[in-house]
Amino acid sequence: MSKIVDVTFELKKYKYFEPFRITNSTRVESNNIEVKIVLDNGSIGMGESSPSYRVNGEKVPALLALQDTVKEMISGYDVRNYARIFNIMDGLSRTAPSLKAAVQYATLDALSVSIGIPVYQILGGVKDKIETDKTIGIDTLEKMVEKARRTFDEGFKILKVKVGENLKEDIEKMLAISEAVPDAEYIIDANQGYTPKESIRFAHCMYEKGINMVLFEQPVMWNDFDGLKLVRYNSSFPIAADESAKTKYDVYELIRNDCVDFVNIKLMKSGISDALSIVELAKTTNTGLMIGCMGESSIGINQSVHFAAGIGAFAYHDLDSHMMLKEKFHGKFDQKVDVLMPSS
Ligand code: MN
Repeated sequence: MSKIVDVTFELKKYKYFEPFRITNSTRVESNNIEVKIVLDNGSIGMGESSPSYRVNGEKVPALLALQDTVKEMISGYDVRNYARIFNIMDGLSRTAPSLKAAVQYATLDALSVSIGIPVYQILGGVKDKIETDKTIGIDTLEKMVEKARRTFDEGFKILKVKVGENLKEDIEKMLAISEAVPDAEYIIDANQGYTPKESIRFAHCMYEKGINMVLFEQPVMWNDFDGLKLVRYNSSFPIAADESAKTKYDVYELIRNDCVDFVNIKLMKSGISDALSIVELAKTTNTGLMIGCMGESSIGINQSVHFAAGIGAFAYHDLDSHMMLKEKFHGKFDQKVDVLMPSS
């Protein structure tokens, strides 16, 4: 037997080592919800929700209040039929996507414990390891240069740099960073901070200066699909949607309107079920894929490590939030600098 008999939510607070600043937002603490699913055979599955009000409009108290409702919705279901539980949880796609992700992952984790096969192998086991970038938040030019140098020297070959608050300063910062760390590859994320014209100017300047930019992420507002397309058609770099791409329906619209080269999937926006659909949509249309995170601890990053390795479809992995939090590691994966390896 492997039927769900209990579902519990627990609030977990994690402090960042230092304030993490992006366009229009600074995080000092991550308030996450640990989801525990108990089966009648005693197996326990764990998942984590790291809600984002900025991206998804989620608030922790509203999610915690759903505990009994979710328990009622999925109790009695057998996790071997996990897609049935996924379908039920799809009802939360618009209102509580990060909670949907945690419950869907906890379902897979409970199945994994029950049958003794790691989640990444249940999902296909395409890769045994993946490489992650590391993020440099917005700071003074000197501090960003110093942090980029140190992070690259630690062994992270891809640096994700946050920009979007001031075009002129951002250009100066990127020139200084890439001069100090010329061998890194750069994913540059503006978090919706630029207008389409500013984005085009920024990309043009990066191209002229020979910056090794591999992705230009979410340059414009999430709802400005035309702007995203304009930037895409007028810049040499691949354009990735993050805040614009939450559910599979968003990604369908982005792709059919020619707005993106890449999609940044985050389980916290899509859950496992929509993420699976987005992967197939992207493969079918030759759209590039990366996977990212919100403020997950290692238990939440664990979900994305198993998903990304299992599916094996991501060109870039941005799974570094656990490294920014003060926590006791509790994921089922090993980390060797930028290499993440799922385990059981
Ligand atoms: Mn982003």
